[in-house]
Amino acid sequence: MKILKIQTLRGPNYWSIRYHKLIVVRLDLEDLADRPSDSITGFYEGLVTTLPSLDDHFCSPGHQGGFLKRVRNGTMMGHIVEHVALELQTLVGLELGFGRTRETSSPGTYQVVFEYKDERAGRYAARAAVRLCRSIVDTGHYPEADLKQDLEDLAEILGEAPLGPSTESIVLEAESRRIPWSVVPVRSMIQFGYGIYQRRIQATQTDSTGILGVELACDKEGTKNILGNFGIPVPRGTVITYFDELENAIAEVGGYPIVIKPLDGNHGRGITLDIRNWLEAEEAYDAAQEAAKNRGVIIEHYYTGRDHRVLVVGGKVVAVAERVPAHVVGNGQSTIEELIEETNRDPRRGDGHTNVLTKIHADRTTWQLLERKGYTLQTVLHEGEICHLRATANLSTGGIAIDRTDEIHPENLWLAQRIVKIIGLDIAGIDIVTDDISRPLRENNGVVVEVNAAPGFRMHVSPSVGQARNVAAPVIDLLYPPGSPSRIPIISITGTNGKTTTTRLIAHLFKQTGQVTGYTTTDGTYIGDHLVEAGDNTGPQSANLILNDPTVEVAVLETARGGILRSGLAFDRSDVGVVLNVAADHLGLGDIDTVEQMAHLKSVVAEAVNPNGYAVLNAEDDRVVAMAERTPAQVAYFSLDPQNPIVKAHTEKGGLAAVYEDGFITLIKGTWIARVQEAARCPITFGGRAPFMIANALAATVAAFAQGVEVEAIRQGLLTFTSSSQQTPGRMNLFNLGSYHALVDYAHNAASYEALGQFVRNWPGQRIGVVGGPGDRRDEDFVNLGKLSVDIFDRIVVKEDDDTRGRPRGDAAHHIKEGIRAAKPEADYDTILDESTAIETTLDQAPAGSLVVILPESVSRAISLIQARNPIDETPETA
Ligand code: ATP
Ligand code: ATP
Ligand code: MG
Ligand code: MG
Repeated sequence: MKILKIQTLRGPNYWSIRYHKLIVVRLDLEDLADRPSDSITGFYEGLVTTLPSLDDHFCSPGHQGGFLKRVRNGTMMGHIVEHVALELQTLVGLELGFGRTRETSSPGTYQVVFEYKDERAGRYAARAAVRLCRSIVDTGHYPEADLKQDLEDLAEILGEAPLGPSTESIVLEAESRRIPWSVVPVRSMIQFGYGIYQRRIQATQTDSTGILGVELACDKEGTKNILGNFGIPVPRGTVITYFDELENAIAEVGGYPIVIKPLDGNHGRGITLDIRNWLEAEEAYDAAQEAAKNRGVIIEHYYTGRDHRVLVVGGKVVAVAERVPAHVVGNGQSTIEELIEETNRDPRRGDGHTNVLTKIHADRTTWQLLERKGYTLQTVLHEGEICHLRATANLSTGGIAIDRTDEIHPENLWLAQRIVKIIGLDIAGIDIVTDDISRPLRENNGVVVEVNAAPGFRMHVSPSVGQARNVAAPVIDLLYPPGSPSRIPIISITGTNGKTTTTRLIAHLFKQTGQVTGYTTTDGTYIGDHLVEAGDNTGPQSANLILNDPTVEVAVLETARGGILRSGLAFDRSDVGVVLNVAADHLGLGDIDTVEQMAHLKSVVAEAVNPNGYAVLNAEDDRVVAMAERTPAQVAYFSLDPQNPIVKAHTEKGGLAAVYEDGFITLIKGTWIARVQEAARCPITFGGRAPFMIANALAATVAAFAQGVEVEAIRQGLLTFTSSSQQTPGRMNLFNLGSYHALVDYAHNAASYEALGQFVRNWPGQRIGVVGGPGDRRDEDFVNLGKLSVDIFDRIVVKEDDDTRGRPRGDAAHHIKEGIRAAKPEADYDTILDESTAIETTLDQAPAGSLVVILPESVSRAISLIQARNPIDETPETA
């Protein structure tokens, strides 16, 4: 058994529209290819002993134990690997269950597909599952220690999860509102939304958190001063820079007890509370100096009371927590050390910020606190005696949080809401020391110790005691007030032929509305009229570039087969999904071997559409029409034939369609009919002579209309869209050479030859073809090309590519000629193997009124040969 390839899908895909996060393993079973599980002695027993919880997998029988029953009765190893990979992830606490296994057209090679939550963990699970199954096949068992190690490794990978607890809570809230999000690969920022609607956060700061507010909050002394000026109770204190100022400072704040802390500290670092004598003060000063980034140290009066954190979001108090410093409670028997160990055994306690709580570790302040009481770690506490091990209440040093949101006094609420305005923060955590938050601060000598920008949410989202608060919801409300959009319209286009042309045309129609349109094509990525990046950009990466660009208002995405196969769509759903056609091309790649499989793959574009949106489908292609059954969206059809029965039935029921009627590109919705534009006046149709271009125009028209572009804008757009050789080299580039025309097209499959043929046959003069194809096509493809050429051209010049891709020179030409003769023995043809010579000779001899059609190996070379002859006007003529 050998893993040939592991792929990670991240969007709607061939296997599922709903499950985006899938691992696809291409697995060669090798020696196990003809050994179903029931024929492997001891396998069933070994598997059940290793992973008894597989009993919970229902699988196809649909009941408890269903999967294990299949193992006992005999199933292939690929299927077992799928379930084991799922179970390994389940055992480390992940909730998932989707999986599929299919044999490919290579016997014994399977595609094993299963869900993941974390990409790395998913890929790890794939390898571990293969290892586990192999071991049980060979030895009848999988060592317990190995399984334990696998699960530990998985847990460790998950522990390194990139999001902190606060960020994660916000992301989950966004997901629940179907707001898209992604990690910005720099500075741990998270982006929400698409295009112009995007927003960013970094921890709990938003892109509208003011830098002045943040800087003020980080300046504890400045904060206290300004709050003091507004009559808010703050600790009496002062700032010093040198040790010799310490004595005076203590006197200035009214003597002991005092607090010493760094001017710019956080997370309780370098703070000493409740300092009662000079010795302690000296030591505390040094600790604060050490933690301070600049030399400033705060000397403050120490206020007794409990520590509270008041979280304000968007001007409103959304949660209040009391934070209790790390402590243990005696039982009359255990030592403090034992009690700490006992407390740390709580599964909620982990290291750092990732768990709900953090483990307690004894440090300098712990010794001090114990010493003050005359205790050591070996002291046995009385039953119920509370012993504090930290002075400050940070969760990250082992403290706990108690929710007090419902208890805060209205006057304190008012105070908190005023404080954030004074500091200038949209999200802030206010630290208040008071005996009782349900009494006004003034009544019990409470003080505001500091204001935090980027406050942690952990204590509110998962308090140790009391009600959990969804504080992420108000943050998302702040970013996206109810009713405001987070997504830009997405129009996604697929099909075997015509994608780029249709994508460009749709983009052009949207440009008529004045919106900034971002689009991706085989030639490059564009925003408005600007090229962003040249290249074959029809995959999810390029789509993401457009979706994440802050200037883009509409995204029009050519969505090719390769990208969908490799990693799925870049978005969870579009607003309009266009499927132009499905024909035999690219078969045999990526385990897509039949036209039916290809249709299933392209159907992803029709199915991943918003239910309010539209799937735009070609009514003349049965495989595309079948997608109407599978899409959750509304359907709009297009057809060159106004009498097409599918269109008729659809529009009679009030449906939307575009048809070619009486020479017009026409929109129909129920009984409403609009003649949008005369096809012959649209430059891309070459005076109405290129039916497939009319079809593309119909698709574009109905797609734009479905997404709200007005008919008038579409009418104008169709008139002004040209497909020049600069914009789309190799795509129906027509050149007027005075007495005759030349056409360069990179048609590369039977369906596109056929489409091209329809146009060429409409040409009034003589039609001459310069034909050939890439050597890696099959012999029969060349024979076919020969046959088709006879149908299209009056005269044929057979040439070959410079790069024969391994074929002997003349061999491809030989097969083409075979096809020509088979179709029409008396056909007029010639052979000039060298492409440039073939083009030059044919152009030299072209009779008046003729059309020379060139299917070149090198589009740019063919175009420059033509350019050298000074074509009259590059833009195609309109009839
Ligand atoms: P964090 O980042 O957790 O908010 P920090 O390092 O910014 O902490 P402060 O908030 O200034 O430090 O102090 C930490 C805790 O110490 C306060 O929440 C409060 O409980 C206590 N504290 C600080 N100053 C005083 C004071 N003057 N009197 C009483 N307690 C204080
Ligand atoms: P690729 O897969 O190379 O990206 P594409 O689907 O983007 O191709 P276009 O670049 O728009 O297709 O067109 C390529 C060629 O396909 C055209 O020059 C023409 O020969 C042919 N073609 C275009 N539209 C259609 C259509 N609707 N039906 C059949 N053939 C078409
Ligand atoms: Mg604080
Ligand atoms: Mg293309």
